[in-house]
Amino acid sequence: AKSDGRGLTRIFSDELASAAETRRELQADLEEAWRLRQFRLVYQPIYEADSRRLAGFEALLRWTHPTRGEVRPDQFIPVAEETGLIARLGAWVLETACTDAMQWPDSLFVSVNLSPVQFRDGAVEAQVYRALKRSGLPHHRLELEITESTLLQKEVETQAILADFRRSEISIALDDFGTGYSSLRYLIDFQIDRIKVDRYFVEGLADKSSSQAIIQAILALASTLGLKCTAEGVETEEQAEMLGAGGCTHLQGYLLGRPLQPEQARALAHAARHR
Ligand code: C2E
Ligand code: CA
Ligand code: CA
Ligand code: CA
Repeated sequence: AKSDGRGLTRIFSDELASAAETRRELQADLEEAWRLRQFRLVYQPIYEADSRRLAGFEALLRWTHPTRGEVRPDQFIPVAEETGLIARLGAWVLETACTDAMQWPDSLFVSVNLSPVQFRDGAVEAQVYRALKRSGLPHHRLELEITESTLLQKEVETQAILADFRRSEISIALDDFGTGYSSLRYLIDFQIDRIKVDRYFVEGLADKSSSQAIIQAILALASTLGLKCTAEGVETEEQAEMLGAGGCTHLQGYLLGRPLQPEQARALAHAARHR
């Protein structure tokens, strides 16, 4: 590799150019993926912490590109948000998840991730109610996962939409809790049913005393405010036990189950009923 300044600059701008190119390619591929129906949903089980009974599933989006293979949602969702595809994709996710959940016993909920962009363009309410109506899923079986960035934009409007969802018995979960900067105020200003503790804190549970302290504080807060709490990214029995002992109500992670194809999720849902 060249060590002079000019060489480095050239390499750097080449990299930038190719990043922009990859992005443009991805944008075009995403449109095509939508037309060719290359998206699908997988379902990760969520369990009650104390009884370890199945409580529901989180719907997670997957895209299998014909040559790139699996593209991670962290990579393509931001691009879909830029191009506006997220509006159509988000509506499809809602309807597909509600329809799949109709195949499960009615004690189980389905949790769907919503992008801030779906709130920004004002279409989200109509999309949610259409999905519920078309699928026939009872409102109380649907949970919507939002993030702080959703709450940061158009506060008054978002607050009104969430209040309306709550009135119609749709649950709201605050995702990636603890990673933002002003989470606590949101718990008071917005009507939230559940917080989802980010995997980052769960990961540090065994050996970082700071993570332990943060999780304990979050769990105490959740229980005081009467909120349900799901810990994400639970990978070890030790983590599961610490979280359960701290009062966490639900657990999600590879220890309990990886995201499943819809048929597998359905089989698990029915097997769990007879346990
Ligand atoms: P998220 O909502 O925080 O979802 C949890 C992520 O953690 C998922 O990644 C899941 O597969 C992964 N995970 C679950 N348990 C474990 C574990 O024990 N260990 C580890 N290392 N990872 C675990 P995934 O499926 O790649 O999704 C990434 C992100 O993409 C999601 O993060 C969510 O923000 C976004 N996303 C996924 N599906 C949708 C969707 O339908 N709509 C929107 N707007 N965003 C979505
Ligand atoms: Ca989520
Ligand atoms: Ca999360
Ligand atoms: Ca996350």
